[in-house]
Amino acid sequence: MIELSEAKAFVLESIRVLEARDVALKDAGGCVVAQDVAAVEAVPGFDNSSMDGFALRSSDTVSGSARLAIVGRVHAGDVSTIRLESGQAMRIMTGAPLPAGADCVCMVEEAEVVGDSVVIPRHIGVGDFVRRSGDDIAVGQLLFSPGEVLNPASLAVLAGQGLSTLRVHPRPRVGVLSTGNELVSGAQELAAGQIRDLNRPLLLALLAGSGFAPVDLGTAEDGREAIAASLARGVDGCDAVVTTGGVSVGDVDFVKLVIAELGGDDARWMQVAIKPGKPFAFAVVGPRRVPLFGLPGNPVSTRVSFELFVRPALKKLAGHRVIERFSIDAVLDGDLDKPADAKVHLVHVNVAWGDDGRVHVVDTKRRGSHLLNAVARANAIAVVPEGSSHRRGDVVRVIVLDPDSLGAP
Ligand code: AMP
Ligand code: MG
Repeated sequence: MIELSEAKAFVLESIRVLEARDVALKDAGGCVVAQDVAAVEAVPGFDNSSMDGFALRSSDTVSGSARLAIVGRVHAGDVSTIRLESGQAMRIMTGAPLPAGADCVCMVEEAEVVGDSVVIPRHIGVGDFVRRSGDDIAVGQLLFSPGEVLNPASLAVLAGQGLSTLRVHPRPRVGVLSTGNELVSGAQELAAGQIRDLNRPLLLALLAGSGFAPVDLGTAEDGREAIAASLARGVDGCDAVVTTGGVSVGDVDFVKLVIAELGGDDARWMQVAIKPGKPFAFAVVGPRRVPLFGLPGNPVSTRVSFELFVRPALKKLAGHRVIERFSIDAVLDGDLDKPADAKVHLVHVNVAWGDDGRVHVVDTKRRGSHLLNAVARANAIAVVPEGSSHRRGDVVRVIVLDPDSLGAP
């Protein structure tokens, strides 16, 4: 058996970041930037009003109030051809360009219209309620550098520069293959001894939920050739491949053999000191160094191995610098039983904010690695190391799978 940290280091050290390419902005959310982006356009592009109101000259209001002649109106999208003189005001809407001659805006709520003039009740300072050209972004300003992750607001900033593509590390395309003679997909009737394929929908959804592009490679029977053919297809068409089943010590556990063949010196079969998820095969294959992850077949093991090995590795492949999920120390609300077996236990649990402002593990009952139903209700995985106390009130590290489910403290 090898330590979790060693297994993980082996995987991560083998991963190379995917080569950058131009990607349409609409597809680039969550991707990692691979170029410097300097602003070519100022934002805002022109001085404009931040309020519906009246554009005027500040100097007309120095005595505290003023009655000004209304000489026109300008809406967002229009440009006034009138130059504002002293003693004049112009109706202006939010986002409309400030007319020439004006240097401030009085909001409509403060102004009182009397016939074709307007009474401004107080002194308005130069620049009041004016959004200056370049306030947000100045021409030449560095907007993004390599390594930054594009969030929705980043995409809006880039769109604000008139860009429609950007050089980023592409979203990894990840093939998912289930292996096992016993597997049946979809609603097909089950013959004796058959089971439905749970891991493929599980992994396809986990991948999509983490921002990767899942590719369904279907199922393969427990045979060397069938598995080799499916994996070859995956390596050709994908940036990474995840398989389940066939990596343990059973008679027909061929996946680990095929991964070893494909990976040569870069392949490794491991017995990791974790529960669940002990058997694990990994290799990088071919000139593109496509990572192959051979996960165990138990669905809960699949889930755990995905979180521990696959997700961080794919994050690295996609160019991310932060590759781990959000994790936090949580207080145990009950005793967590763990046999002294020299393994790190990964326990699906539920966490919630406590009245003390800390995160608590609210359920501490253990579950077997074939019990997926309980996993479906968990929002975190507790990482329970060997040799520490896990009694009620003790603290345990939890990987939070669904931070949104905690809401506000
Ligand atoms: P294996 O790792 O191939 O020895 O499989 C371990 C256990 O997981 C066995 O009980 C398999 O039937 C089960 N299993 C393997 N693949 C899947 C799958 N795709 N969906 C549900 N259970 C599976
Ligand atoms: Mg099997």
